Amino acid sequence: MPKPASSRKKPRAVRALSGTVFITRQVHFNSAHRLHNPAKSQAWNRKQYGLCTNPHWHGHNYVLEVTLRGVPDPVTGYIVDLGELKRILHRAVVDKCDHRNLNDEVPFLKNIIPSTENLVLAFWAQIAPHIPRPARLHCVRLYETPRNFAEYFGPDVV
Ligand SMILES: [Zn+2]
Repeated sequence: MPKPASSRKKPRAVRALSGTVFITRQVHFNSAHRLHNPAKSQAWNRKQYGLCTNPHWHGHNYVLEVTLRGVPDPVTGYIVDLGELKRILHRAVVDKCDHRNLNDEVPFLKNIIPSTENLVLAFWAQIAPHIPRPARLHCVRLYETPRNFAEYFGPDVV
């Protein structure tokens, strides 16, 4: 029996589009921390950080958004497989920080005041080496609360 005309056609080549695109994956984790500079007095820490220097810790529901930039691959249409990016973010940050005390339990944060600003700098360093080329890490954005967030665009942006 002859095949229908449509199945005899040669597969068509896809049309690649060119342009730099930014794509973002969001992940969540919950952590305890304390803002405290041990080189300063208790009075200085209380004045600087208020409740955030409470010696009995406090927690946040952090939201981490990581943006990559690149030109979509002409074969896949992807800059990066977002499932792979999720696995990278979990290995580099979430698995190490979720349900942990950021001051005491996370080796790459040792002796760092875990402010949102310092966390985006530290997270960039953890994530950047694992981004598959040719995609580039563009932004690490961390929400400490729905209203407060910090962003880091890498060492080349001053
Ligand atoms: Zn806090």
